Amino acid sequence: MTSPPDDEGPALTPDQAFSALGNTTRMDILRTLADADTPLSFSALYDRIELSDSGQFNYHLNKLVDHFVRKRDDGYELTRAGERIIEAVLSGAVTEHPIIESTEVDQYCQYCGAPIGISYSDEQLLVFCTECPGTYGRQEFTGEYGHLGRLYLPPAGVGDRSPDEVYRAARIWGGLETMATVTGVCPRCSASLEESLDVCPTHDPADGVCPACGNRYAVSIDFSCPNCIYNRSGLFGVKLTAHTEMLAFLAGNGINPIAPLSHASIGSAMNYTEDIRSVDPLDVRFIFEIDGKTITFRVDDDRTIHVE
Ligand SMILES: [Zn+2]
Ligand SMILES: [Zn+2]
Ligand SMILES: [Zn+2]
Repeated sequence: MTSPPDDEGPALTPDQAFSALGNTTRMDILRTLADADTPLSFSALYDRIELSDSGQFNYHLNKLVDHFVRKRDDGYELTRAGERIIEAVLSGAVTEHPIIESTEVDQYCQYCGAPIGISYSDEQLLVFCTECPGTYGRQEFTGEYGHLGRLYLPPAGVGDRSPDEVYRAARIWGGLETMATVTGVCPRCSASLEESLDVCPTHDPADGVCPACGNRYAVSIDFSCPNCIYNRSGLFGVKLTAHTEMLAFLAGNGINPIAPLSHASIGSAMNYTEDIRSVDPLDVRFIFEIDGKTITFRVDDDRTIHVE
């Protein structure tokens, strides 16, 4: 572990950080420094901020220095934390609330081949099948049926894109988030995630999804961050999507797992047969098939993933 540079002060508590940012002049200072190509001297920065009292300006600037703003010999510039505040604002996360009502896109369900639909609000893109129960049956918050998953996308990702383009942007952006999550790294703060695995005790997906757990498959997994508020849950297949052998299997069958060309192709990674031989101790096989070729993963009681 390394020490912070000498010009950075002691760590702020979350309360102190929120309070340091809770002022229009301070946000103006951050925005002005973000717009500048080079560090700005005290007077150059003061000239660009609408404040007639230089004492007041100095007071607000000092509240930011060490944590959000760095003072160098040639002037002031944003620290990485200051840049992240500006990035959050410019991604639209704080300022914009675009909504896309349920609409069909030119993509097809990996289970039944019917067209899929999307909807977007609150920075989340929900993907659903227009005909079958999908992976997760009824979506918990919207009540939409045929839920195939949700992908995180900031409002700037919606912009003036068509629904098909929004789906693709979310698939790529959200796919990278999934890769980080399932390998145990929090995609928001980079801390180590905690994982817990659950098996539906009375699983019966005769109608596509099971009435007890609501899902197509019995083994689910939950990821939560002990450092920030990030959490995510899904079926165990999601965990396998970043496994080296799975990536090789997908790529070997013409599927690009990072920037997939279609929902149906990447959906192959969530279309598998689950063979639960024992719950306690855990012994489950997950069998994937693409064009007659198969790969089997076995998960045992210490949660190790083996390829068979
Ligand atoms: Zn379907
Ligand atoms: Zn179940
Ligand atoms: Zn986190």
